[in-house]
Amino acid sequence: MRHHGIHHVTAIAGPARRNLDFYTRVLGLRLVKKTVNFDDPGTYHLYFGDSLGQPGSILTFFPWEHVAPGRNGIGSTQETAFRVPEGALGYWAHRFIEQGVEHGTVEKRFGQSVLTFKDPHGTSLALVGIPGADSEAAWAAGDIPAEHAIRGLEGVTLLVENGELTGAILTDVFGFRETARDGSLVRYKSDAVMGSTVVIRSAGGFLPGRMGGGSVHHVAFRASDDADQAEMVRKLAENHGLHPTEQKDRNYFRSVYFREPGGILFEIATDEPGFAADEAQDQLGAELKLPAFLEPRRREIEAHLPELA
Ligand code: ZN
Repeated sequence: MRHHGIHHVTAIAGPARRNLDFYTRVLGLRLVKKTVNFDDPGTYHLYFGDSLGQPGSILTFFPWEHVAPGRNGIGSTQETAFRVPEGALGYWAHRFIEQGVEHGTVEKRFGQSVLTFKDPHGTSLALVGIPGADSEAAWAAGDIPAEHAIRGLEGVTLLVENGELTGAILTDVFGFRETARDGSLVRYKSDAVMGSTVVIRSAGGFLPGRMGGGSVHHVAFRASDDADQAEMVRKLAENHGLHPTEQKDRNYFRSVYFREPGGILFEIATDEPGFAADEAQDQLGAELKLPAFLEPRRREIEAHLPELA
């Protein structure tokens, strides 16, 4: 069955070791793939997600050892949110104090409880309390009790000058529907469980965003397979005058990219083949994986990557 929604979110971090420690130990996500940026193999590409590395659970990073801080603003992803069981926010507020994580207080958005926080490199994040999420599978490793563990991505908040054209792409091309409005915020939902929410905030007059540490680099939306992706590309061209790149093979999915009218880089990534394409499910993230075209350079690449532990 086809599900639409967010496939993954990719952001820019500072040093890889701290990035890895925060997402695996502090937040309790699984490292589901350790590879390099295929377009810049001197940089890691670390993928964090649920126990299976399912689409909709994945947050990935390009960790840059020396990165200038970015700035959220017009044309950027303002926040990336995870889903947790409704009763878990108290546990997380306590954990953030204990672990020295910068965080806000629990607030209400569209009737849901939300706890905002930042990762060590400035990425704006949130936990959204979801009724019934307790029954969803959780990656229970480390010291976080399974009942409180993160259940995958909830979604993103996009900050754009005027969200109408961006919203039209979500509904016409990516399988979302508008479900709520609150002032300058419009919320869109898809039929997936994880990664099913996009909130567009229209806010003319803000400064433009600047890419750097803590910035989201792009948001990837799901296509079940090549045919589904091709249909989306056709709609983007015919209905929205947008022309994505040619398809790129990312080993774990196949992708096209385009800049949406609000200025944010979007990707369409296939659900197939998934993260078990080059290592066993119970070994995900264990070894540095390289695409075939970089395998001949493995020794040189490994020698230049920073130590992770
Ligand atoms: Zn991507």
